[in-house]
Amino acid sequence: MNAFEQAIASARAAPAPPTRDSPYAGQRARDFKRLRFEPGLEDEYRRHMRIEQRTSTLVCAVTALAIWLAFIGLDLTRLDLRAEFAARNYDALLAAALRWSTLVLLLALVSVLAGKRLPRGYNRLTFVVLVLIGATSSISANVFKLRDLAQADLAEFVIIMAVFLPVGLTFYQSVAAAALIAVLNAVLGFAMLGPSHMHEHVRLSILLFFAVFVGAVGAYLREYAQRDHFLLRRMLHNHAMFDALTGIGNRRFFEEHAATALLQSRRDRIGLVFAILDVDHFKKYNDHYGHQAGDLALRTIARTLQGQMRRPMDMAARLGGEEFGLILYGIEPQRARGVFDAIVQAIAALEITHVMSDTAPHLTVSVGAAHFDGVETLEQLYRRADMLLYESKAAGRNRASFG
Ligand code: GH3
Ligand code: MG
Ligand code: MG
Repeated sequence: MNAFEQAIASARAAPAPPTRDSPYAGQRARDFKRLRFEPGLEDEYRRHMRIEQRTSTLVCAVTALAIWLAFIGLDLTRLDLRAEFAARNYDALLAAALRWSTLVLLLALVSVLAGKRLPRGYNRLTFVVLVLIGATSSISANVFKLRDLAQADLAEFVIIMAVFLPVGLTFYQSVAAAALIAVLNAVLGFAMLGPSHMHEHVRLSILLFFAVFVGAVGAYLREYAQRDHFLLRRMLHNHAMFDALTGIGNRRFFEEHAATALLQSRRDRIGLVFAILDVDHFKKYNDHYGHQAGDLALRTIARTLQGQMRRPMDMAARLGGEEFGLILYGIEPQRARGVFDAIVQAIAALEITHVMSDTAPHLTVSVGAAHFDGVETLEQLYRRADMLLYESKAAGRNRASFG
């Protein structure tokens, strides 16, 4: 087998490019009928939803707070707690105590949601508040029924519907909260009410269990759509930001990142080196070994470059064709020189045979690396790196030039 055939054979045997959307596309292909992604992705989704639903949860919590305050005000005018206390009517006292406790927890929830940092388990507080609202409303309604006062036991129906609003609960948490409210309502009614109220109570309880069921179906469909939407959005973002052939960042991503890195470097007075890397005699490589072998070489080079990026703000991206952009952040010019020399050597050391090259018997690259002076624009830096790259080409290729 000659070098050409070898290259083609290895191109065919090469693994699929490291497409960055694979976790999202893979999850979509595997489906998620149980409303659960793979562990890492599940965490990412929950984090995303926590931020996404923060405002809607806050709106719901403030609305609930306003309604709750109105209820408390109304109850104060209707029940004489002192008389209830004197008569040792503990049910009325319990209802009042629960109303005030719920108010405190609701206030806590609002302050957590309005606060700077949203704690991880805030939806557990939402869960507790919702169940407490449900249970307190049941007890209150029973207290009024026992005194033949007007009451709003149908509010329980509204509370169960509210559990399924976008308040940061997962589908399973919503169903558990709604079912718990329905069960508590049924049990509290049987415990507190007499035979004269039982007929009505059974009717309400059955209605509430239907409400849980209908709410759960709606919530399942909504969460499924929400998860699908999340995966699609991430996939779209990756298509827009990553290069399909090599799997590393594309020009758009690189320019966005470069603009941010430049701003930060200027503000924090931290060194930054901006470089352009171009594969030498690549047209001849393609002409001799074929496009497929050329693609494989580009992938291999991309992987090698990516492996050299050590810090979070460093970046290697494919600008187009056989040209790559590199950013090294927080680095002294002297050390950057060493890194780029090492990159040039690492690619030569891959020994990708290139018999048509005028430079070496294998593929080589040339680099132009410009040290950011703290004032120039991205365009100026780009132009300077391009000129330095030209210097490397003119000086015989397979090298890096600095400026
Ligand atoms: P120099 O050393 O001066 O850089 O010469 P060169 O041949 O590398 O430069 P030139 O710009 O003339 O050729 C670039 C070649 O890169 C042209 C094209 O065949 C190849 N190329 C660009 N994009 C791709 C790609 O996606 N896949 C493959 N296989 N080849 C590509
Ligand atoms: Mg080239
Ligand atoms: Mg080129």
